[in-house]
This record gives sequence, structure tokens and C-alpha cells, in this order.
Amino acid sequence: MKEKINMENKEKMQKNQSVIRINKLRKVYKLEDESVIALHSVSAEIKKGEICCIFGTSGSGKSTLLNHLAGMEKPTSGEIFMGKTDITKLKEADMVSFRRKHIGFIFQAYNLLPGLTALENVALPMMFQGYPKKERDRRAEDLLKRVGLEKRIHHYPSQMSGGQQQRVGIARAFVTDPKVVFADEPTGNLDTENEEIIAGLLLECAHEKGYTVVLVTHSLELARKADVIYRMKDGRMMRYDR
Ligand code: ADP
Ligand code: MG
Repeated sequence: MKEKINMENKEKMQKNQSVIRINKLRKVYKLEDESVIALHSVSAEIKKGEICCIFGTSGSGKSTLLNHLAGMEKPTSGEIFMGKTDITKLKEADMVSFRRKHIGFIFQAYNLLPGLTALENVALPMMFQGYPKKERDRRAEDLLKRVGLEKRIHHYPSQMSGGQQQRVGIARAFVTDPKVVFADEPTGNLDTENEEIIAGLLLECAHEKGYTVVLVTHSLELARKADVIYRMKDGRMMRYDR
């Protein structure tokens, strides 16, 4: 009995671990004769297994924030801790390997490689991690089945609909068992019916395995499906009470 309680406590503690800690993040884009403050002083903590939605109107700074969290841009000031690593301090080459190991990304425009099949696209991120080919193909196939594409495994992106391509995008983001998956308006290019199906699928996949997800959307309806909601406005981010 005591052991069981200890186990439960341990699980709770692990759930409460912060995966991302954002501290006073600021980004100023300097243009020729003006500067744009895209992120004011954004601070937040995202916990393990949490599905977190950031919603806000176009131009509010959502993509800027997500690109910083995925280490694709450097801030003007501030810190982003993932575990014990402040990723804003990593050199480009170290950031690339950190990203390959720990981060999955789902893009609005899918960003699949046109010359590769669904299976090859999903298996690609595992190439950098030294999985043998057989294992890569097996994992990629399992995930493609999970997202409902068992009949499209050998199709190329141009032979699939938008919704199907984004299913491949979801499978690819989860295939390396990343610490966190970022999704920037992943349903933004889909029709309303597909938007719901694909968003639902993404959240299901995340819940099943307890993945941590940061999802950007301009839809409050979609945001309401998350555990935690943030609202972005003019480069500032605040918790949104549902
Ligand atoms: P969202 O994703 O919420 O629509 P963005 O993060 O793309 O918003 O943009 C936030 C603000 O920063 C906007 O005013 C945008 O014009 C500006 N911005 C984004 N990227 C750049 C850039 N590379 N150079 C200059 N301004 C930029
Ligand atoms: Mg955007």
C-alpha cells in the first residue's frame, strides 16, 4: 500500500516537472526606420504532459514565440530553459542536435519533403538518431497507422489531400518520442471539417502518451480543448481563464 502511494507521488511529481521555463523573453525586430516589439516580456512555465494552447489574432506574436521555443530564432533578451539547458545560449550546431533529439514540430503548411513517401518522411527524423532502418520503418508505419493512413504509406505528398499530409506531419512530429511538440496553426490550411478531425487526432495522440504540446491557434474553440490556455496580444502573453 505504502509502495503504491509512493509510486503515485512519484508520478505526480514527474507530472509537475517543468519542461519549459520562459523568463522575460523579449524580441525586437529592427527594420530600416522602425522597430517592432514582437515579444514584450513573456514569462511562462509549461509542465510535463501539459497540452498548452496559445491563441491570439494575427500579428500578436504567436509564431515569433514558437520559433524561439523551438530554437529557430534568438531573442533580444530573456531565457528559455528546457530542463536545465538555456536554449537561447546554445550555438547553432548544438541547437540543431538538441532540436533533433528533443523537439517535434508541426507546420501549418505541412512542410513534407516532396520527393519522399509518407513512410520516408516520417522515418527521416530517426535517421539522425541512429535507429537501424528496420526499426525506423516499423515505428513510422505504426504511427502512420495510428493517424489513419495505413492505405497511404507509400504515397507521395502530392498524392495526398491537405488533411492526409497533416496526418503525416503529426506522425513525423511524434516519431522520435520528443520532450515537446510545437504546432503552429496546424489546421490553418484545412477546411472546417478536417480542422476538427486533425486537431482532435493531434490531441488524442498527445494524451495517449502523455506528450507535452504547445499548440498555436487563432481559434478559441480549439484552444478550449487544451489543459492550459494562454492569450497573446500585442506581444504580451497572459493566462486565459476559460
Ligand atoms: P502571429 O504568428 O501571431 O500572426 P508573428 O509572430 O508572425 O504573429 O508576428 C508578430 C509581429 O512581429 C508582427 O507585427 C510581425 O509583422 C512582426 N514580425 C515577425 N517576424 C518578423 C521579421 N522577421 N521581421 C520584422 N518583423 C517581424
Ligand atoms: Mg503565425
